[in-house]
Amino acid sequence: MARRRTATLILAALVLALAGCGAAHAAGTGPAWKAAPVAQPDTVDSEQPDPAPTSAAPTTPPPAGPKAGAKPGAPAGPKAPPKPTPSRTTPSGGPGPGPAGALTTTGTAAVALTFDDGPYGQTGQVLDLLAEHHIKATFCVIGRQVADGAELIKRIVAEGHSLCNHTWSHDLNLRNRPADQIIAEMQKTNDAIHAIVPNAPIKYFRNPGGLWSAQTVSIAASLGMKSIHWAVDPWDWKQPPPQVIINNVLGHTRAGSIVLLHDGGGDRTNTVIALRTILPSLASRFILIALPTS
Ligand SMILES: [Zn+2]
Repeated sequence: MARRRTATLILAALVLALAGCGAAHAAGTGPAWKAAPVAQPDTVDSEQPDPAPTSAAPTTPPPAGPKAGAKPGAPAGPKAPPKPTPSRTTPSGGPGPGPAGALTTTGTAAVALTFDDGPYGQTGQVLDLLAEHHIKATFCVIGRQVADGAELIKRIVAEGHSLCNHTWSHDLNLRNRPADQIIAEMQKTNDAIHAIVPNAPIKYFRNPGGLWSAQTVSIAASLGMKSIHWAVDPWDWKQPPPQVIINNVLGHTRAGSIVLLHDGGGDRTNTVIALRTILPSLASRFILIALPTS
């Protein structure tokens, strides 16, 4: 009995420690439309561990809870920049400076806004704002949400944005799965997208949680996708006040930055509000692009 209670308390503590994207991703929170089956409620999502050394550290949220369940071996943790590791064994990862060689910049002066974890309830609002400001972006979509969000997928493509594969199930443990499972997570997602927009290029991949491995990068490459990490991460999935998101993004974005934001995974009201300021401000300072698909 006592042990059961202790276990329950530990579980509760863990849940609290891992709140944030985990909570944000829990189905049922946020404005779930059609009860979108978002990422597993029992895991932390997201792009939360922010291992990119060049990355704009979130201005407020402290790095995950003490339990660090959030970052079971997060790539290189907050300190060591995981060098692009041209290891002798395959897979060797990608050519970028991010974890496992993922890209953190566009390679030009242009800035790329990326939106993860949709299509979801507020993807349409994000698209509306992008259209209003004549800005193109990149959407990293979760495969299992694609069929229910078919109209949003069509809009993303029709309005000139780029698509990015964010796996089928947003498995935060992807990098520890066998290769065939990693391939399936990616391929199913591309197939689901192509069932809706048959000819749309899907040239980018983002590992759930930013928890990369050389193998996930390498498999993505074998499927024709470049792996993109990020250089700026305001932790918007954790729903900080809009001004915090604004300050973080505007304060950290540099020429070439790939900026991580979320259109899915929970209630993105604060992100949408922040975008009303972020979009015109960034557009006045940078060229904003959808990541190139050719
Ligand atoms: Zn995600």
